[in-house]
Parts: sequence; structure tokens; C-alpha cells
Amino acid sequence: MTQRSPRSGIPPIIRKPPIAEKLDKLREKPPRATNREPLSGLERLAILDGLCDGDAPGRIATQWKISTKTVRLFKSRLYDDPLNLFHYSVIDHRGKGMYQCVFCGESKPRLSQCQRHVLAHFFAHHIAQNIDLGDIPEVF
Ligand SMILES: [Zn+2]
Repeated sequence: MTQRSPRSGIPPIIRKPPIAEKLDKLREKPPRATNREPLSGLERLAILDGLCDGDAPGRIATQWKISTKTVRLFKSRLYDDPLNLFHYSVIDHRGKGMYQCVFCGESKPRLSQCQRHVLAHFFAHHIAQNIDLGDIPEVF
């Protein structure tokens, strides 16, 4: 099996990871009117959050009232091209030399270090460490 980084980062007593606040916002929203609506940025993050915990697509789908098919498709696209991860707000840029992983709250001084850290939540260590980061879009 793949070995992924646990959500260590900052102790949960001090502060919740940034994604916790974002997902609280999503919980407050009314349920989607139709499954044909494209996924919102928050919904994409919610799926990623579930995948980060190793949750099955069916479970993520039920939790966020998205179809299982949509979750599976999202997951397969991500695994086809891991760099797709960086199209979503998975890193908070908190000023010079502070790039924070939204999934666990850990900060890194360099963007590339933070990108590899985020990749390690989803992919095996050797993939996270060796993937070419050259073409990653900088989206914050
Ligand atoms: Zn992290």
C-alpha cells in the first residue's frame, strides 16, 4: 500500500487546519439543486479532504451530497495527473516565505516544499518527492 503523510502539522488544540473553516462554510450552503451543476471550488476541496483521509468515493459522495460517479471521476482525473491538485486552493500563501497546507496547517518556507508536502497527503512518497513541479500553476 501507499504510504502517505498523516495530518500532523500543528496540534489540533491550538488551531484547526485551514480547510476546517472552509468546509464549515460548505456545510452552511443549501444542497445543490441538480447533479449537473459543475463542482464548486469548495466541493472540490471537500472531495480532496476526504481523499486525504483515505475515504472511499461513496462515503465522500454521501457526506457532501455529490454523486459517487462525480467523486470517482474527480479522483481518477487527479490520479491521472497529480499536478491537477494545484488547480484548487490547497495552499494558502500567508506572506513571504509562508506557504501553508490547507489540509493540516503545516507551513513551509518555499512553495515547492509546500507543494511536495501537499502531494504527500495523496500520493506515495516516491511520487511526491520525484514528480516534476515545473509546470505547476501558481494559484492562490
Ligand atoms: Zn499538510
